[in-house]
Amino acid sequence: MYLTDNINEHFRLVGTQIKALEKLELFTIQDLLMHIPSRYENIGSSVSVQKLLEDGITDNIVTVYGELVDVKKTLMWKTKKYMVEGWLKDGTARIRLRWFNQPYIVDSLKYVKYIKVTSKITGKGKNMYFANPNIEQMPGLPEIKDSQTEHAGLYPIYKTSQGITSRWFYYAIRKVLEGINLESLVDIIPINIIKKYNLPTMSTAIVWAHIPENEKDAYSARKRFAFDEVFKLQLMAAKERNLRSNSLGYKISNDVTTFNVGYSSVEGFVESFPFILTKSQNKAVQSILKDMSKGVPMSRLLEGDVGSGKTAVAATVSFAVVSNGIQVVYMAPTEVLAKQLFDSFIKYFNNSYVNIGLLTGSGCKKYPSKAEPGKATNISKTQLLKWVADGSVQVVIGTHALIQKGVHFNKLGLAIIDEQHRFGTKQRASLLKNNLDKKPPHLLSMTATPIPRTLALTIYGDLDLTIIDEMPRGRKRVITKIVSKNKLNDVYQHIRQQVAEGRQAYVICPRVYIGDLSDKNGVISAQKIMMARLKSVENEVENLRKIFPELSIDMLHGKMSNKEKEDVMLEFSNGNVDILVATSVVEVGVNVPNATIILIEGAERFGLSQLHQLRGRVIRSNYQSYCYLATTNHTVSDTTKDRLTAIINAKSGFELAEMDLSLRGAGELRGDTQWGTSDIAMEAIKNIKMVEAAREEAQRLITEDPDLKKHSNLREILLCQDRIHFE
Ligand code: ADP
Ligand code: MG
Repeated sequence: MYLTDNINEHFRLVGTQIKALEKLELFTIQDLLMHIPSRYENIGSSVSVQKLLEDGITDNIVTVYGELVDVKKTLMWKTKKYMVEGWLKDGTARIRLRWFNQPYIVDSLKYVKYIKVTSKITGKGKNMYFANPNIEQMPGLPEIKDSQTEHAGLYPIYKTSQGITSRWFYYAIRKVLEGINLESLVDIIPINIIKKYNLPTMSTAIVWAHIPENEKDAYSARKRFAFDEVFKLQLMAAKERNLRSNSLGYKISNDVTTFNVGYSSVEGFVESFPFILTKSQNKAVQSILKDMSKGVPMSRLLEGDVGSGKTAVAATVSFAVVSNGIQVVYMAPTEVLAKQLFDSFIKYFNNSYVNIGLLTGSGCKKYPSKAEPGKATNISKTQLLKWVADGSVQVVIGTHALIQKGVHFNKLGLAIIDEQHRFGTKQRASLLKNNLDKKPPHLLSMTATPIPRTLALTIYGDLDLTIIDEMPRGRKRVITKIVSKNKLNDVYQHIRQQVAEGRQAYVICPRVYIGDLSDKNGVISAQKIMMARLKSVENEVENLRKIFPELSIDMLHGKMSNKEKEDVMLEFSNGNVDILVATSVVEVGVNVPNATIILIEGAERFGLSQLHQLRGRVIRSNYQSYCYLATTNHTVSDTTKDRLTAIINAKSGFELAEMDLSLRGAGELRGDTQWGTSDIAMEAIKNIKMVEAAREEAQRLITEDPDLKKHSNLREILLCQDRIHFE
């Protein structure tokens, strides 16, 4: 068996398994070995059913694993209540499970096979049973040898896909490990680094990950895999920083005398604003201007909560660039946002001599209009592109259309990217190509997603970071309340009242559920059952239409096309929709100032920073705004309450992001956003020391060997990632 062998060659796979492996992107034996468990089940304390029945320990909580069989529902004639009964069978014996007065549970158990029960036992001898136990669905059962009544150890649980079980991985990987020589595995991390940080070698890590003797080994193995991931990311970042610092960019000076743009200085421009910049905004402006004055292309990430005034910062630094006779491009993820930015820029630039263009799929505009100087006019795309190419339009705002073919800039000095759009090497390269001046522009990414520093260092490792952690003074805080399910009527009443006053509302549902839950084999995973119980957007729309027959209600969810989404958003921002029911897709910087009330259902299912982002949708208004966090259950548990209370008390999104990271891991922060990192790298991000170490080593390596000539393995891997272009 060789690492490069196809998995098919060694396992007799059926079609569904092949598909499942493909879906998990596992093709070779090496891929299989790198498919490390997502977690471990500690079965040290579990007991066989036979032993349980013999010993009859009724006071302690015990754990048993087994197959769930013979589930049925009966009506008890005495109490006229339902009882659901089933058996857990583990190969040694069987024991009864009983649920009282929860008839619906029978449906959710229909397709459940292997389970883990951790519960107290009720009754004695043959009549022993688990009463109302919590059960956990298992992908398979831990290996039980006949002679063995008590099993111990860590049982790996693998990420699976429809058609393949964790149990399959468990046995397949064991077989591979028996039949392979791991010596041929190449360690991509230089040995001196492995030694320095006391990491296991890759071959050791693989064995420890799949067949750990103890938790310490399993942990070391994970740490090693995580280090690899983070190191690769850092290496790419270091490579990019290195390339950048060696290239020649635009030198932006603050001296405006050469070009007449209406103000004699950047300060003069800022003084024309109807407000004073906050300290944070000022600091951000200063660091950006300082960066751009060096003549090396800047790459900076500006983070700030919704409403913290990032657009004002963008306008200010754009002015500085334009006053040097150089152009600015500002890219937004959606047309709606692009139009909003265009309108804001018009306000900031209204006493200047700067020409601003808007380029989107559905039309182009230019400000100021010749006929009406205070206004913008519609113009043709051809006309706009001509003006962009000859430099007479100095600021162009738009969507992705901006980096497509045919858009040529005369002298593009600054590219600003709004909201979560990772601006990679590719886009920078295409901008460079489209720049007739042939110089790389400065890059400024802006996001309202608060990202803790460790995470930013990892996923945006090549960027410098500026944080606006202060809100403009006098901003009203959103009144935030936690409500249990039985108080929803009060919230509906409040929504009705707000709409009557001319305002609009958001209702957020945790997930979309469309269609059948079961797969081809009729199997439903426990997770899907949970999802099915959640209110879907469609159900909620139906429900709300009954509650508010007089109002106009529409919906927005991830299954819609971009065009459909944009249309709905447009209708909502034009005020034609009173209540917008949405999944978390509404998160991305949509600004409808007239929306003053947001109801978030199943709030406990969202990460804290996600909730904060959602609440940010109603922060823009000049009216008092409200956020209701509704829980799925009738009562709110203490832990849920604590978590949700953090939203009420937190000073900024950063505080919440840090909390998410420490409480529930980086996956929480990610929400629906894909950052192109693996789960294990995300997990590693909790470990600032590791991130810093990886960053330091990567930088050292690149400084010593910029083209990785001495590290061909690494070089190859980075080339595969298609993020870096080695010349
Ligand atoms: P962001 O892009 O960070 O969400 P914006 O730049 O759109 O925030 O600003 C939100 C609102 O706050 C805008 O209406 C803007 O005019 C206003 N604003 C920005 N900076 C300040 C400030 N320093 N003082 C008062 N209002 C401000
Ligand atoms: Mg903004």
